[in-house]
Amino acid sequence: MSQILYTCPFVPAEWIAAHGLRPARIMPQSTGMHAAVAPIEGLCPFARAFANHVLGDSTSCGAIFTTACDQMRRVRDLVVDGTCVETFLLNLPKTWRNAACTQLYIDELGRMGRWLYTLGGCVPSADALAATMLDFDGRRQAMPDRRVADSGGVRLALVGGPLLAGESGLFDLVVRNGGRIVFDATETGERTLPDRFDPALLRQDPVGELARAYFDSIPAVWKRPNTGLFDWLTRECTERRVQGVICRRLVWCDLWHAEVHRLRDALHVPLLDLDVSDDSPAAGERTAGRVQAFLETLQ
Ligand code: SF4
Repeated sequence: MSQILYTCPFVPAEWIAAHGLRPARIMPQSTGMHAAVAPIEGLCPFARAFANHVLGDSTSCGAIFTTACDQMRRVRDLVVDGTCVETFLLNLPKTWRNAACTQLYIDELGRMGRWLYTLGGCVPSADALAATMLDFDGRRQAMPDRRVADSGGVRLALVGGPLLAGESGLFDLVVRNGGRIVFDATETGERTLPDRFDPALLRQDPVGELARAYFDSIPAVWKRPNTGLFDWLTRECTERRVQGVICRRLVWCDLWHAEVHRLRDALHVPLLDLDVSDDSPAAGERTAGRVQAFLETLQ
């Protein structure tokens, strides 16, 4: 019962772990049309899937939602009365690049820490937090390099919001049609890893360094301005010699829908605007046909 669920990359796992609880960032399973949170018109399937996961969970003590998008903020309201899991809404400043915004994020981490304490967590010392951060940083560095070996095929980047569990079939679909995804810049991919911690800064001010590595460094579509996202994508597409981009977005997600045309202009390679509605067989066939046609134009 010491597990804390969340999906948003701006929730630092180290902060939860340093409070003595277990962070569990999940990729929820699509819950289709027959789940506890009804298919409300226009509700993002990812947000609904997370809400349904929380509603069906009996092994976690808490779940964190964030204000990164309005839909996630809204589904927290939908689950709060129907679950035995305690919920917390982490307010993320929409603007960044100034000290006041970073301080607001730090203050929110403090509020989250007090909530974790009410769930049985402890109050970590600065040394304990720093040790936890170093441990997590080391584990991230030890993760296998996600860069794909150069095995031929059209080099694609996958860009967009979060993938649901079971959506890895998209990677195989690309391979079957003569391409390969050389980097995953979805919200559940490498784009949302925090920056490496600076050992000197970490010793001086671990919470400040946590905020820098997460809030200041992770490129996000919802930040204003979201120039960090465009800078990151432009650099990675160039370095990894990307020949095309698949922007996979859920049709209810206004945040990504609004950026598709800007991405097409900024990245200077062909872009497939892959809008995905649900996981029905018909939607799967439509996706397969569009990916096949896109790759045919690039070969
Ligand atoms: S996919 Fe878009 S609407 Fe859905 S949770 Fe993510 S940002 Fe929000």
